[in-house]
Amino acid sequence: MKARFEALKERFAEIADLQAASAVLQWDQETYMPPGGGASRADALATLQKAAHERLVADETSRLLDEAETWARDRGPDSFEAGFLRAARRDQSRAKKLPGELVAELAKAASVALEAWREARTRSDFSLFAPHLDKIVGLLRRKAEALAVGERLYDSLLDEYEPDMRTSQVESAFRSLREGLVPIVKQIVSRQDRVSNAVLCGACGEKSQFKLCQEVVRCLGYDFDRGRQDLSAHAFTQPFSTDDVRITTRIKKDFLPASLYASIHECGHALYAQGIDKAFNRAPLNDGASLGVHESQSRLWENVVGRSRVFCAWLLPLLQKRFPKRFSGLGGEEFYRAVNKAGPSLIRVEADEVTYNLHVLLRFELEADMIEGRLKVCDAPQAWNAKMADYLGITPPDHAQGILQDIHWAAGLVGYFPTYTLGNILSVQFYEKARRDIPGLEGGIAQGDFAPLRNWLGKNIHRHGRKYTPNELLERILGGGLDSRPFLDYLRAKYSEIYGFNRRVSGILTS
Ligand code: ZN
Repeated sequence: MKARFEALKERFAEIADLQAASAVLQWDQETYMPPGGGASRADALATLQKAAHERLVADETSRLLDEAETWARDRGPDSFEAGFLRAARRDQSRAKKLPGELVAELAKAASVALEAWREARTRSDFSLFAPHLDKIVGLLRRKAEALAVGERLYDSLLDEYEPDMRTSQVESAFRSLREGLVPIVKQIVSRQDRVSNAVLCGACGEKSQFKLCQEVVRCLGYDFDRGRQDLSAHAFTQPFSTDDVRITTRIKKDFLPASLYASIHECGHALYAQGIDKAFNRAPLNDGASLGVHESQSRLWENVVGRSRVFCAWLLPLLQKRFPKRFSGLGGEEFYRAVNKAGPSLIRVEADEVTYNLHVLLRFELEADMIEGRLKVCDAPQAWNAKMADYLGITPPDHAQGILQDIHWAAGLVGYFPTYTLGNILSVQFYEKARRDIPGLEGGIAQGDFAPLRNWLGKNIHRHGRKYTPNELLERILGGGLDSRPFLDYLRAKYSEIYGFNRRVSGILTS
């Protein structure tokens, strides 16, 4: 029977190879491909993805899975085999539930919608995008019905990115988050003049910025023998295997923190991908537990560590070495406050760590309402602006800076947004646990010693890849599940000090 499991492993190894080849093509498309290469690249990707899909849903794969599951029953829930079979079964059953014509129709609708969205955003005209979004919402409703996960339509879409998470759980976590965040934002707004980031604005050479980014991620532990960093329009991480994990960054000439913190963010994702057990290569276990858990790693390094006082104390001398003219007179406290400037803004990807989650909350509420039929696409812009006014106290001057700013809906990615905020919540839960487990953690960070934290994350999270479900992983590490209170406490403590308000008046006390 072991031979049957080996045959199954080989099948999934081929699927992983096809997916890795797709990943190389996608990475190239975002970094070096000339503009003319788009059409033939789309063909090549479609062929590879079709070949992977056919292997996954084939009768032979089902037969091998059935046999291997019987054989593996007594291998124990923590075994490689048990984790492998659970992940393989989940991938196959989701793929089999979706009719091929629906998958093709969605892919085609998304590629047309992406073009329309670009045009609509350029002209700031939602009506150009509305019919395409309407079509995508209709197709995604069909997809959700076919997958039939949970009790609500949105459950099926959320489950793709966050296995076993249900819409009602997200609603409840986000409700307490909103109740805590809105008063903090109000306090920050009323004290906007207390913090300035003007010292960070101004020209910094692009080559020097890029070198600084590489130096910082190397110090954090990113392994350049098993990765490389390039430039792209939007920063991203793309693993091909645990031994080749690529990261990118984007450079804003006049605002150094953009490239620097994007690099730290992607480095957090990459440490996860480089840290997965090598035995999981070419197996369905070679991935993160969920997008939310993945995002917790990027956010932990970018914000919880990267914007902490101790990290700033380590980082500032590196900045001063690379840009002596710009930063030699800058003090540590001034630098710490500048990288933590917060306040309402229009664009999600540029938002600070407090207001960011209100941007996500708004998107989650609107997309769940559209999928579940409570909101018509034509009424979405009005709903968007009303929520912006309600949560952040600002109104977008046009749709380009409002409802048309993100690519997700045009690409058919619905159910994805909540994972950003789940990642923020988890980042603080994990960090607090690491701090309890590692004596002198922050003293080490101030000296540039990141190994204790990296090793803790590696041992507790990274090496397991997709072996455990997100809930199992949280239970193992935290002895409990998702909890937004530590994140709110962290924000209250940090920003009440920076902006000088009493944390007790900033909202409901949670501890
Ligand atoms: Zn990320």
